[in-house]
Amino acid sequence: MEKPKTKNAAGAAARSTLRDAAKRKSRAPSKRTRYTRAEIAEIFRRFHVQRPEPQGELEHVNVFTLLVAVVLSAQATDAGVNKATRALFAIADTPEKMLALGEPRVGDYIKTIGLWRNKAKNVIALCEALIRDHGGEVPGEREALVALPGVGRKTANVVLNMAFGQPTMAVDTHILRIGNRIGLAPGKTPDQVEDILVRIIPDEYMRHAHHWLILHGRYVCKARKPDCPACVIADICKSAEKTTSIPAPLVPIEPLEEAPA
Ligand code: SF4
Repeated sequence: MEKPKTKNAAGAAARSTLRDAAKRKSRAPSKRTRYTRAEIAEIFRRFHVQRPEPQGELEHVNVFTLLVAVVLSAQATDAGVNKATRALFAIADTPEKMLALGEPRVGDYIKTIGLWRNKAKNVIALCEALIRDHGGEVPGEREALVALPGVGRKTANVVLNMAFGQPTMAVDTHILRIGNRIGLAPGKTPDQVEDILVRIIPDEYMRHAHHWLILHGRYVCKARKPDCPACVIADICKSAEKTTSIPAPLVPIEPLEEAPA
């Protein structure tokens, strides 16, 4: 995957643009976080110590295959998408090659993923648009990304964050749950939660905040029952559901030791 290109200053500028865009958009008013600035900084400092370089779990070999993988991951697990895309990306890692493969063969590769017929159609339309409008390259601007077939705000946020190093916040089911459960970013919709998180997370942590929150939700603050004894922010957490206030030891976690989704 391409290395992030954004430095701190550029990241702060991009974040400021995000805030302005969020303000301009007419959305239902967001609620407030239940945490002080110091508490929020401490939460993300600990996530940083625990996972200094968090990685997304969707397999890809370049920006194009990342985009396709994210499009395919809607209402599917990362593990399920990875299983289907390994063979597909081995033979089609550019829009041109994917287009040459054609919709029926793309469909054959991704048949195990939910809504695969529609997704195969979208992937082909996506490749046509990338070739026609962007010379076969994935654009690094939000407006251009969301104009592509099958690409919504969340997909654009993931690609901008992972491939272009932008401090975006793609709110998935885990982040929506954590935002509300612990009161970090209460909101009914992903957009409301995104607005709060983009506003409250300190600049220096924004680049990786998306992955930290997803991994925390996937492995610790799980949907059915949060694993509070394993939680490094248990003393700060204000959730009514928490079962302990003693934080787990703060040690770096090796990515390979993580359990599958
Ligand atoms: S203490 Fe429990 S509820 Fe709070 S963030 Fe940690 S796992 Fe989630």
